[in-house]
Amino acid sequence: MSQETVLTRPKEDPWEMALEQFHRAADYLPLKRGIREFLAYPKRELTVNFPVKMDDGSVRIFTGYRVHHSTVLGPTKGGIRYHPDVTLNEVRALAMWMTWKCAVAGLPYGGAKGGVVCDPKKMSMNELENLTRRYATEISILMGPESDIPAPDVGTNPQVMAWIMDTYSMHRGYSVPAVVTGKPISIGGSQGRFEATGRGCMIVAREGAKYLGIPLQEARVVVQGFGNVGSVAAYLMHDAGAKVIAVSDSRGGIYNPKGIDPRQVLDHKRKTGSVVDFPGADVVTNEELLELPCDILIPSALEGAITGANAPKIKAKLIVEGANGPTTPEADEILKERGVTVIPDILANSGGVIVSYFEWVQDLQSFFWTEEEINQRLERLMVQSFYHVLETAEKYKVDLRTGAMIRAISRVSDALMTRGIYP
Ligand code: GLU
Repeated sequence: MSQETVLTRPKEDPWEMALEQFHRAADYLPLKRGIREFLAYPKRELTVNFPVKMDDGSVRIFTGYRVHHSTVLGPTKGGIRYHPDVTLNEVRALAMWMTWKCAVAGLPYGGAKGGVVCDPKKMSMNELENLTRRYATEISILMGPESDIPAPDVGTNPQVMAWIMDTYSMHRGYSVPAVVTGKPISIGGSQGRFEATGRGCMIVAREGAKYLGIPLQEARVVVQGFGNVGSVAAYLMHDAGAKVIAVSDSRGGIYNPKGIDPRQVLDHKRKTGSVVDFPGADVVTNEELLELPCDILIPSALEGAITGANAPKIKAKLIVEGANGPTTPEADEILKERGVTVIPDILANSGGVIVSYFEWVQDLQSFFWTEEEINQRLERLMVQSFYHVLETAEKYKVDLRTGAMIRAISRVSDALMTRGIYP
């Protein structure tokens, strides 16, 4: 292995993390060996290498993936990530987490994820459209409203979903809005989808704070990541009466112990491209931000933010995982010992896929609901999932992640046993 490989290799492999979380929870269940092994593998994995015409006339080859972890509960569901660090193992982990996330929420879906190794921040709109339409074509052998329904994730947005919907529809010869969720409202997107993941985080943070006896009014909140999830979670926590004291994006963080108005930060980010240099706040690094004195920490960036190295220094009482996989299994152990409650990703950020499900149902029926109806249904489902997970965790005397995983694995394995093994 070259020196460079050693230095750039991520310390925590997300797939190893996902497997460790799975086995920790599976140990509590009377699963047959074959069933346990079956659930520990992705069902199918597609790697595509494809050319894209760039603005300067050159042709570049990009690599993308689409992984289906499980189809036991229904068609597969999960986002598509555009990021320079995407790897097959990351997409595998994200696909497995989608299986558990859908199962915890009681949605009729299995888990999937896709990703393209690229830096969308360094590409023009035209290049992104070319890349998206070609990637959509490459994975169209797996994609479909009855088989596999993508959605946004890190680095993708409603416009990217619109290109996927259009590309798929052009191949079919008619419009198929239900093939992808997180679309713009004008082409069959759902009211409330854009805010759904952040709204779900706020709902479980509120319930978690209630459970721990932390008054939400004036509770100090720190949010890592100011994208689709973090920015919305931040302003909805602010609206709920909490005090957001620090936020960050990939370029760095800002901190003001007296409180920050997240909507003003969002305006600043829209104008300047980043939260940094927001007037009236101190500059902090992403590492420092996680260790700030606060009550609620919402990591909403990438995997592996909270590790064995910084977990002992975290001061929050409640961690609400807006991102997928932000806490390593080693950190989980440390936090548990230190009495820090973690609301796990597969529960905390499930608002996105829950409203994706509503979007898909609306598209299939061509009958649309109001934002109020969507938000009410989301609220009901998130609160219900939170208390179900809490109940399971208390019953088995485990942390909330293991409780959520026990529920999810039970649901999938029950369905698997009922369907039987073919042939
Ligand atoms: N990418 C989001 C997630 O990780 C949303 C998935 C979806 O809506 O299908 O949950």
